[in-house]
Amino acid sequence: HVEFIDVRKTYDGETLVVKNLNLEIQRGEFLTLLGPSGSGKTTSLMMLAGFEVPTSGDIRLAGRSIARLPPHRRDIGMVFQNYALFPHMTVAENLAFPLSVRKMPKAEIGERVAKALGMVHLSQLGGRRPAELSGGQQQRVALARALVFDPQLVLMDEPLGALDKQLREHMQLEIKHIHESLGVTVVYVTHDQTEALTMSDRIAVFNNGIIQQIDLPDRIYQQPCNSFVANFIGENN
Ligand code: ATP
Repeated sequence: HVEFIDVRKTYDGETLVVKNLNLEIQRGEFLTLLGPSGSGKTTSLMMLAGFEVPTSGDIRLAGRSIARLPPHRRDIGMVFQNYALFPHMTVAENLAFPLSVRKMPKAEIGERVAKALGMVHLSQLGGRRPAELSGGQQQRVALARALVFDPQLVLMDEPLGALDKQLREHMQLEIKHIHESLGVTVVYVTHDQTEALTMSDRIAVFNNGIIQQIDLPDRIYQQPCNSFVANFIGENN
């Protein structure tokens, strides 16, 4: 499981954008970081991914301190809104590339790529280039690329933000299905209350770099702990 222990982060040496984060994420859990823009969700996720270093405090994965390890040594898959596929490579090559960089044997790469493409229902499209895919299909490739390592933890930052409403709802179900069938731990960032309420095992509501409430979706919805949470959850619902 994942632990944030007294984690603080400032970019300018003055303002704490993450104030004193203490958080435990259970193995296999789907935890959503929910909150308005600028509340510190992405910064928290970036520290877990290894693209940002905490100003103080520690982050542990399965008991091991990872706060100062580079991203590629963390056994974590990532999906972002701007998923940046390599345009000159086919879908299958996009998935194989990070594995071949790590010198994995060719046969194993082939197996893993096929399995990951199957999980996102793109087995037929491995030979296409990203430009020949729809937005939703490209997002699936990004998801497959996060899964191809068989990571113990997958991080997603607004992965469906660029998709229209119908496709977004469809992909929410697919992501939930993958989460359940793999039993992988997911940390998901969104500012969309409905998305958080429908997908999560637990929700951490952020504001001003502080978790205001962390709880089951039902309890966040029915028993918000303060007026910020009540108002934020009430918006657009
Ligand atoms: P959003 O939903 O808009 O992505 P967020 O809740 O994820 O918001 P963060 O992106 O973590 O929030 O930003 C928290 C604060 O830190 C904001 O005030 C932001 O301007 C600031 N910030 C984020 N990244 C950097 C950076 N690389 N350098 C300086 N300040 C940053």
